[in-house]
Amino acid sequence: MTPVNTFEGLHITGATKLAGVFGWPVEHSLSPAMHNAAFRALKLDWAYLPFAVPPERLSEAVRAVRALGLGGINLTVPHKEKVIPLLNDLTEDARAIGAVNTLLVRQDALIGHNTDAAGFNRTLRSAGYDPAGKLALVLGAGGAARAVVYALVQSGADVVVLNRTPQRAEVLARSMPGHVTAGVLDSTMLSMYSCAALVVNATSVGMWPAVDSAPWPDDVPFPYNALLCDLVYNPRRTCLVRWALSAGARYIDGLWMLVYQGAESFRMWTGQEPDVGIMFSAADQQLGGQGVATFNGR
Ligand code: NAP
Repeated sequence: MTPVNTFEGLHITGATKLAGVFGWPVEHSLSPAMHNAAFRALKLDWAYLPFAVPPERLSEAVRAVRALGLGGINLTVPHKEKVIPLLNDLTEDARAIGAVNTLLVRQDALIGHNTDAAGFNRTLRSAGYDPAGKLALVLGAGGAARAVVYALVQSGADVVVLNRTPQRAEVLARSMPGHVTAGVLDSTMLSMYSCAALVVNATSVGMWPAVDSAPWPDDVPFPYNALLCDLVYNPRRTCLVRWALSAGARYIDGLWMLVYQGAESFRMWTGQEPDVGIMFSAADQQLGGQGVATFNGR
């Protein structure tokens, strides 16, 4: 990973509003680079910091948000679910997804929100893709999958969720505000959905350092003409992306969802719309600068 001085150009004074991310570990987070670049571009007197918060100290850290007058906080692994009982209220999205990635400070109350679903929807929209009425296949049933399935159900897609541990997919499907089909992630099930229009990889398979693995087995053709959204963004071009491209499919890079979920948090904290291109470039640079040509949709 290329070291980037994300604080270059930030002038921190007594009036600077602070935001940040609570994670454990947090040193690889791309959020400081993205948010600080967006603050700088809008000349906002804000700064964004990574906070390494051990799980057993999460409640202390959450209490400190108001004590320190922080303007907003993101939560990442392993805090997204554990934070819920520590908050005053949840938004409808956070309640439905069952996880919080954004804290909003409202008149001294801490509200838990989740921007992953909105971030995913904006990612599809930015690629000119409308999932309404289409068959969407979601691989995985963890936190990211919950947000994606919720977004797709709300957009009117016909959703199938397949997971290595099928019971987890069933629990996810039952908790959604619409019909979702659940099953096990194996060759037989994937063959049944070869007509999927949208495939979302919401498993962690393919993520660095296990870059040669893919959640889609070699013996099942990837749906021709489908759109793949691989949420894994490190590496940017995963093994699954290469497999889908060789099958004639299109793809959207997972870094866009990261940027759009961050942009949603940014807008809720500051009331201003950040430049997603600037956020994307900052995150990409942090990953080593693999370039911006990331949507090959037709
Ligand atoms: P999570 O809650 O830990 O879920 C992990 C999922 O991956 C589970 O469904 C798990 O299946 C599945 N899985 C793990 N190893 C597997 C294997 N060897 N074979 C098949 N399935 C396997 O993680 P998460 O928070 O949902 O994140 C999932 C991925 O999405 C990560 O790579 C993360 O970086 C990425 N993500 C990206 C964004 C973005 O903005 N682009 C946002 C959030 C997450 P089991 O249930 O069977 O264990």
